[in-house]
Amino acid sequence: MVMPCANRVFRRLVMAEQKRDYYEVLGVDRNADEAAIKKAYRVLAKKYHPDANPGDKEAEKKFKEASEAYAVLSDPEKRRQYDQFGHAAFEGGAGGAGGFDFSGTDFSDIFGDIFGDFFGGGRSRGAANNGPMKGANIRTSVRITFEEAVFGCKKEIELTVKETCKTCNGSGAKPGTSPETCSKCGGKGQVVFTQQSFFGTVRNVQTCPECQGTGKVIREKCSDCRGTGYIAMRKRYSVDIPAGIDNGQSTRMPGLGEPGKNGGPRGDVLVEVIVSRHPIFQRQDINIFSTVPVSFAVAALGGEVVIDTVDGKVIYDVKPGTQTDTKVRLKGKGVPSVRNKEIRGDHYVTLVVQVPDKLKPEAKELLRQFDALTDDSLNAAKRVAGREDTGETKEPKEGKKKKFWK
Ligand SMILES: [Zn+2]
Ligand SMILES: [Zn+2]
Repeated sequence: MVMPCANRVFRRLVMAEQKRDYYEVLGVDRNADEAAIKKAYRVLAKKYHPDANPGDKEAEKKFKEASEAYAVLSDPEKRRQYDQFGHAAFEGGAGGAGGFDFSGTDFSDIFGDIFGDFFGGGRSRGAANNGPMKGANIRTSVRITFEEAVFGCKKEIELTVKETCKTCNGSGAKPGTSPETCSKCGGKGQVVFTQQSFFGTVRNVQTCPECQGTGKVIREKCSDCRGTGYIAMRKRYSVDIPAGIDNGQSTRMPGLGEPGKNGGPRGDVLVEVIVSRHPIFQRQDINIFSTVPVSFAVAALGGEVVIDTVDGKVIYDVKPGTQTDTKVRLKGKGVPSVRNKEIRGDHYVTLVVQVPDKLKPEAKELLRQFDALTDDSLNAAKRVAGREDTGETKEPKEGKKKKFWK
């Protein structure tokens, strides 16, 4: 006579056992605090959320399991009951057969920050729509010269900007009338709609489609601005381009962008600079590079060359025996750092020794005499260069190394 009863108890135990321990589900310690529980759930919810795993039944099961564990463990009273009675504490509750009663559990803060990254700006958080919002930024570009980028400049730009309509003072309503409170949202700018989900009924807050969140409806529109409250105008601005700015970088003019919403500040204007190519200078970060031709005689005998820099001409003493491709560093003749005015880059010059190609008969004769007089090692090097016919100068390595970055 004892058997059926024991059997029933046993069956009940088995059923209870099928349900995993809530702490185990979330992977937290029994003493875990509220923050740890929330953090654990957030990780699981993000991983198994049905929106991230469409059609995946296993993920959905895991998501429900984790949500249930979170609903209990995040609520101090429910957690206390669970700690005391286990799953039995919630059996036969309002959830119905196999279901779980999620009423009273607030998922909104969790889903607010988790699903912010899932849905981008699409699922906006209602409340922000009616508050002050900064206006959008306006992007434009301006072309400047290489030197203007190095030293900074002022540039005039023309932009189409929205200005408050003077006819209606920005209300958008025809003079003599005023905007009416939106009847759909009662002026709140938001509407609430309910949706069924496996958590039960979810209340969603959405921007009112009737008034686009302004809470006001304009019956008779201002004819000058067609109800927008703004008039587009062409305006000229003077932009300060900072010294050291590089191609593709932008400078910001705060507060000159699109008007804000609900009393929010205007956006900014971002002016991108397009730097024209320079015929002789190239730029890399804060350094400038160029090449300077040196005559064969000056390279061999030493002498002066004139080097163009952004600061003007510089006279440079070429040492006797200078090889082609010798690099010269002109310290502090580069570009000022756009972040720190104290820092200025360098100008690296590559000296390119010119081999004369049009020679007068006398010069040819002198060169032949010169060739006969030069020592054997150099002649050997010349013969190698001639045989390979690479068109490039081969010079002894030792001489070149020393000249690097002098
Ligand atoms: Zn107007
Ligand atoms: Zn409305």
